[in-house]
Amino acid sequence: MTNTLKWMTLALLLFAAACSTNAGSETNSTANSASNNEQASNEKEANEGTSNAETDSEEANDGEEQKKQEEATAKETEPEYRLNEAFWGFEPINDAPAEAVLLTIDDAPDKNAVEMAKTLKELDAPAIFFVNGHFIDTEEEKARLKEIHDMGFEIGNHTMTHADLKSLSEDEQREEILKLNDMIEEVIGEKPKFFRAPFGSNTDFSKSLAEEEGMLVMNWTYGYDWVKEYQNKAAITDIMVNSPLLQNGANLLMHDRDWTAAALSDIVKGLRDKDYALINPKEIEPLQK
Ligand SMILES: [Zn+2]
Repeated sequence: MTNTLKWMTLALLLFAAACSTNAGSETNSTANSASNNEQASNEKEANEGTSNAETDSEEANDGEEQKKQEEATAKETEPEYRLNEAFWGFEPINDAPAEAVLLTIDDAPDKNAVEMAKTLKELDAPAIFFVNGHFIDTEEEKARLKEIHDMGFEIGNHTMTHADLKSLSEDEQREEILKLNDMIEEVIGEKPKFFRAPFGSNTDFSKSLAEEEGMLVMNWTYGYDWVKEYQNKAAITDIMVNSPLLQNGANLLMHDRDWTAAALSDIVKGLRDKDYALINPKEIEPLQK
């Protein structure tokens, strides 16, 4: 650790001590108001039959190289934003702009995620894709996951089967979370740093397990694309950009859905027109062990 780094760490610690109100306050009455029913309707599509499987298989060594590079980058990047569980959003550390939001895409990679990643990449818009195990259990689906990660997007754990963790035994919850971490690591060469429970339905067990695995647990501030009236491009664009819940640091939930994919570019532009920057997941302070 260089001296500069030590100083920055010390400064960070002092900062954290000075405003520790956020740190320990577990507010379970979440601000997910518009949204606590993240929808389950992810029937697994029969994608296996389609024949445009990606045939680029440059696996093993590439993974190792990439891992080393990413570890090096991670060490250089100082965190700029800290999660605040009161609204599952983010507060700036030091002088990062407060007027910023995080984009997250859940239930990926189903039919739209690769296209959504391309749209975001073109706009230079970072995001986390929260993936499910049942969407990455064929070679074609694994290739999609790799493609999204290779475009520079963060991959988060959203459980194997999108189950409500509160309805499962501890062993079953462990399987939902750990098995997916292994699958993701096998494809992209690293374990996820973020965990989001389906329906925002965390248990004490799942939270501590996710944390043991080094993942930051997050729900979201708002999202609408599973609600019938917002299932078209114009309506979902409008509400994502003009929601009364839009605020500094908001954590925006979207899904791998046709209408959201169609609206994504306008959503990003709309947020930027309102002067919101987009938080890069790599700038989020990792889990504090
Ligand atoms: Zn979900």
